[in-house]
Amino acid sequence: MQTASTEVVRDINRRIVLNLIRTRQPISRADIARLSGLQRSTVSLIVEALIRENWVVEGPTGRLPRGRRPTFLRLNENRVIIGVVVRPLETSVVLADVNGKFLSEQRVKTPCDPEAGIKGILGCIEPLIAVSRGKKIEGIGISLPGRVNHATGILEFAPNLGWRDCDLRGPLSAATGIEVELENAANACVLAAVWFDHMESVRDLVAVTVSEGIGTGVLMNGQLARGFQGMAGEFGHVPLDPNGPPCTCGSRGCWEVYGSNQAALRYYRESSGRESSFTDLLTLADEGDACAIKALDTQARYLGRGLRMIVAGLAPERIILVGELTSAWRRFGPAIESEMRVHVLGGATPQLVPASEAGHGRMRGTVALVLQKDFGDPREFRA
Ligand SMILES: [Zn+2]
Repeated sequence: MQTASTEVVRDINRRIVLNLIRTRQPISRADIARLSGLQRSTVSLIVEALIRENWVVEGPTGRLPRGRRPTFLRLNENRVIIGVVVRPLETSVVLADVNGKFLSEQRVKTPCDPEAGIKGILGCIEPLIAVSRGKKIEGIGISLPGRVNHATGILEFAPNLGWRDCDLRGPLSAATGIEVELENAANACVLAAVWFDHMESVRDLVAVTVSEGIGTGVLMNGQLARGFQGMAGEFGHVPLDPNGPPCTCGSRGCWEVYGSNQAALRYYRESSGRESSFTDLLTLADEGDACAIKALDTQARYLGRGLRMIVAGLAPERIILVGELTSAWRRFGPAIESEMRVHVLGGATPQLVPASEAGHGRMRGTVALVLQKDFGDPREFRA
């Protein structure tokens, strides 16, 4: 028999109240009771505890008909999170409040050597700790372009970064005295969608990050699929052609060799003889450069072709694409989608959507990564 102790019930009720305040703030105690079904007295006790613990603050007094004047509650913005997004070229570090609002940002080049990388991250974190004097830092969340073994905290696979078997959690938490949470970048984007983009009701979701490589984060039955030792989701390294160009993972012809931004730059170089950055390639295509248009179209077709693996294997309800390409969605969206829809086996084709704010998915994911320790999974605490 599964029974629950008083502590467990209290914890669940506390999370229900905390999540209602997060998603409906400013909100009155009466509305929390109405939406949660909890007794008014229970809500009051929990709210008093949350105010004492500085999770929640009382806002202005509202005005309602018939003379009632409830006091509205909101999350305490003095609880902050440090978010770190490591990408192959650049590392960004932000200070964010509990609502995912960015307060301050530091950037540093990402070196090839992980030890220098950790030093660089620390160099960015220190000034943020200094400006958060008087605030409570909840934790450090890190998004990585690779796979982390969640049991050991070791970054085991990050071919585009070149860091191998690297421990970031140990040195960073030792140097700062703050708890560190690590997550794969695409998984962080899944968390961001669930936490901040109101996708709590979607239970089967795949986030595909398209940048230097291709990463996928898989939410199945409402749970992040991490796989044995955290290695799940490497669709980017499934070979489409074993005789294709070499991949950073050591194999050949992987999906990301054909569908990443690097692939588009290669197509452009091969046809025009010129080098370009991905952002410039998007501009060139807008200006009508035939080689740039062709390169981006080829990338889009390969992205759609690779998505067929995901559609056939996982049948998600929604696929979110993350990356610079979302800023040119009118060019990419239809081409990717038409290729993805070829030979759908049956059932509904997943909705294909661009991430809402280009580049912020990973960062907001790092905030969610830290907050979920206290708030739990937002899908379980919906009103
Ligand atoms: Zn590969």
